[in-house]
Formats: sequence, C-alpha cells, structure tokens
Amino acid sequence: MSYDKNNIFAKILRKEIPCKKIYENDYVLSFYDINPQKKIHALVIPKGLYTDLDDFIRNAKETEIIEFFKAITHVADLLKVSNISGGYRTLSNIGKDGGQEVPHLHFHIFGGEIVGKMVT
Ligand code: 5GP
Repeated sequence: MSYDKNNIFAKILRKEIPCKKIYENDYVLSFYDINPQKKIHALVIPKGLYTDLDDFIRNAKETEIIEFFKAITHVADLLKVSNISGGYRTLSNIGKDGGQEVPHLHFHIFGGEIVGKMVT
C-alpha cells in the first residue's frame, strides 16, 4: 500500500491541523488521541512517512527504528504510566484486518487505569 500524504497524521506532522503534543524530537511526534479509549490514551508516530509497522520495519533506517521505540518508553515515562507507576499497553493496528484507521504508523499508549482484555 502506497503512503497517502493526505492522511490525518501527515497533516498533523505538517502542522496543517493541531494536536495536543506530549513529546517531539527529530524522529517522532507524540500527542493525545482525539477520542481517548482509556484515562490516558496517547499516540506515538514517526516523522518518516510509513503506512504501518511492516512498512516501517522493511524500509526505515535503523536509527529511525531505534529512536521510535525509545520514544515509546520515553513518552510512557512522561505520562507516568511506565511499569514503575503501574504499567500500560502499547499496540499498533496494521491494515484492514488489524483495524487500522489512519494509514500512518502509530503506536497507541493506553494507561492510567487497568486497561482490560487484550482483544475485544
Ligand atoms: P487506528 O485505528 O488507526 O489504530 O487509530 C487511529 C487513532 O487516531 C484513533 O484512536 C483515533 O481516535 C485517532 N485520531 C483520528 N483522527 C485524529 C485527529 O485528528 N487527532 C488525534 N489526536 N487523533 C486522531
């Protein structure tokens, strides 16, 4: 699947639409989900234009991959949900069967309460 530059997260990266930012560096942007499913619901996205995790792992530079996964833990620390504080769930939906709505790679971070069943 080719990357759609009009997806909503691409627009957020281009600052065409706003987001409630949590963290940003040269490689990633993290912001709160507009429709939170748990007390804390954040998103972490790479600045590189990748549709999903498979595209990212196949095509991103190793530095991009390392910085992206490091950022998830950093954001969990900033949100005070890391395992020192109670823990959280991170997940990434991939494609149609995975339930992905926005075709720019993103990891969700859910926390601030017991998150519940893994898959519903
Ligand atoms: P997916 O289903 O693709 O894994 O998750 C997409 C997520 O993006 C959903 O949780 C949805 O609420 C969130 N989302 C969609 N549009 C926007 C937006 O404009 N701003 C923010 N902050 N989140 C969005």
